[in-house]
Amino acid sequence: MPRPKKWRKVCCLPEINRFGPIGSTPEGVIVMSVDEYETVRLIDFEGMTQEECSEHMNVARTTVQGIYDAARKKIADSLVNGKTLLIEGGEYFLCDGRGGQCGGMGCRRSRAGRRNDCPPDDDNKRSET
Ligand SMILES: [Zn+2]
Repeated sequence: MPRPKKWRKVCCLPEINRFGPIGSTPEGVIVMSVDEYETVRLIDFEGMTQEECSEHMNVARTTVQGIYDAARKKIADSLVNGKTLLIEGGEYFLCDGRGGQCGGMGCRRSRAGRRNDCPPDDDNKRSET
């Protein structure tokens, strides 16, 4: 088995992971990985630069650029061609809302205390009861 690639840190899984045209039959399905979704969330939604995004996700800036480009193409394909967009899979781990860049700007997990943004995940150990 090959050595796993450097995994990308993702703050939260999307609350909704399936999008598509309303009122017509989708023309196909596009699968976007969770790490691709995260770059769009951080850059387009949170307003981060690619540099900030790369620090946040714990990867090189050139890597972020590649992931982000792929994500944008998929969104465009879905919008233009009326395809279902499915967000799942990818090379990522979920942050705990504390380490490094997290616990601050852009980290949804750090906000989970006041509003439960994150769906429960079994992989992360919870320190609170
Ligand atoms: Zn985080």
